[in-house]
Amino acid sequence: MDSITANECTIHFNDLCYEPLNKHIKESGFSKIFVLVDENTHQYCLPYFLEKLETNLVIEIIEIESGEINKTIDTCVGVWNTLSDLDADRKSLVINIGGGVITDLGGFVACTFKRGVSYINVPTTLLSMVDASVGGKTGVDLGHLKNQIGVISNPDLVLIDTKFLNTLPENQIRSGLAEMLKHGLIRDEAYWNKFKEVSKLTLDDLDVLIYESVLIKKNVVENDPFEDNLRKTLNFGHTLGHAIESYFLSNPNKTTLLHGEAIIIGMILACYISTELAGFPKQTTADIKSLFINYYGKVKINEDEHAAIIELLKYDKKNNHGNINFVLLESIGKPRIDCLVDNKIIVDAFHFYDN
Ligand code: NAD
Ligand code: ZN
Repeated sequence: MDSITANECTIHFNDLCYEPLNKHIKESGFSKIFVLVDENTHQYCLPYFLEKLETNLVIEIIEIESGEINKTIDTCVGVWNTLSDLDADRKSLVINIGGGVITDLGGFVACTFKRGVSYINVPTTLLSMVDASVGGKTGVDLGHLKNQIGVISNPDLVLIDTKFLNTLPENQIRSGLAEMLKHGLIRDEAYWNKFKEVSKLTLDDLDVLIYESVLIKKNVVENDPFEDNLRKTLNFGHTLGHAIESYFLSNPNKTTLLHGEAIIIGMILACYISTELAGFPKQTTADIKSLFINYYGKVKINEDEHAAIIELLKYDKKNNHGNINFVLLESIGKPRIDCLVDNKIIVDAFHFYDN
């Protein structure tokens, strides 16, 4: 698999990751290497990575606790202090090995420490491979508000080695797949069609699909670096999906939903609304609903919860001037941005999901 360059950052794949990694380290005159992991990637990913790394430089391991709850400025302060205590200097290299929490936080820590040191991202979850790996977004949450603090900055390299997925729990695989399904729906019908039998896909099948997903995201991001138009299409399913995710997160009676699991519901709702408002074929919406529910199951959302979820839409960052803007589909691969949707249609969409 050839490497992919997006916004001047090169992404290498699988066995072809390690030669460019070692060459880059050899040629860049780094003083020391700091590897950021959480307890899971420390256990499952770091040993394999260290086997592949060829260098005489000192390597320090910095571990933080896993989970979105730790994607905070406090955790950054801890890592900045550790870097400082371990004499990191401007020629240090940070290597972030983990899911989106590690690459977002580690990227932010690196590009702010001493006004910016080099870093390399090694995404180890499916979601971080196909989504967080492209676009240069780094940052942390502020209280319960996601990704409020951060900067756009690109790593020196991104290394996507799908071997890491062997230890990733099944629900995390499904969560990442949701973003790949989204890439197909918003951008590429031929790619979408490869997921017709999503439940039969093996990790081997995923290899090529991950590569294609990264290409789709690169294409979107490069054609709209400042999130004016095209990049908004990546929010398909995310307006209601985020509201559902937050609702479930803040409600102790609810099971936790992973990001992708919430986005799947958001995409079913957005397909229904697309049929109502944008001419998206009714049969296609029905097919997508049954494909998604067969694979992801149906999540119980009670009638009396609709209003509370709709209320949460007002926190959505795509909510411009008090309007809630949806991404809808006219057909597969043909999104329409900035669509206004009234609450009645959203409630109808919930009923469609539930029946
Ligand atoms: P995550 O980083 O929390 O990882 C999920 C879990 O999997 C964690 O418990 C982690 O320790 C574990 N894990 C990681 N790799 C593993 C492996 N190979 N084997 C076993 N366990 C492993 O979650 P995520 O879904 O990867 O990322 C979510 C974060 O990504 C969110 O904070 C989101 O805001 C961010 N994100 C960023 C971008 C971007 O453009 N920068 C895009 C999408 C999402
Ligand atoms: Zn998402």
